[in-house]
Amino acid sequence: MIKQIKYYLKSFTFWELLKGLSVTGGYFFKKKITVQYPEQKTPISPRFRGLHALRRYANGEERCIACKLCEAVCPALAITIESEQREDGTRRTTRYDIDLFKCIYCGFCEEACPVDSIVETNIFEYHFENRGENIMTKEKLLEIGDRYEAQIAADKSADAAYR
Ligand code: SF4
Ligand code: SF4
Repeated sequence: MIKQIKYYLKSFTFWELLKGLSVTGGYFFKKKITVQYPEQKTPISPRFRGLHALRRYANGEERCIACKLCEAVCPALAITIESEQREDGTRRTTRYDIDLFKCIYCGFCEEACPVDSIVETNIFEYHFENRGENIMTKEKLLEIGDRYEAQIAADKSADAAYR
């Protein structure tokens, strides 16, 4: 009986509606946080998973040793690697493609890499204009790695500090 009275009282006083509007009203008077993107940007975590890159060592040598762990771990089957042995006996990739249409930016490739070669940068502003540009080739990935190495290294050490 009491339950029914409560129910009718709530119905006649529009209690649920008033409760909802109180939330709206509360935010109406709060300080507004509007970011004027793209002029202004919000901070990005060093763990942000954006566009991929392949890194080199300071002497210019590619880090990737073509172990294919990233290819094996990728849940989206987005990575394709071909490799060969060089004259000095080391192994390097002859092909390293990432299909960004398949990639789900899970970061598993970066986690799996034993030599910190494949990484996900904090770059999120990119687009494609032509068919096929979604395939990030080894050359493109190395070029991104070369261009953003300082940022990648800084993010890596900031991330290590969290752990
Ligand atoms: S981020 Fe995930 S889905 Fe994308 S290439 Fe790496 S492992 Fe594959
Ligand atoms: S990027 Fe890393 S995990 Fe992938 S093949 Fe190269 S060394 Fe192995």
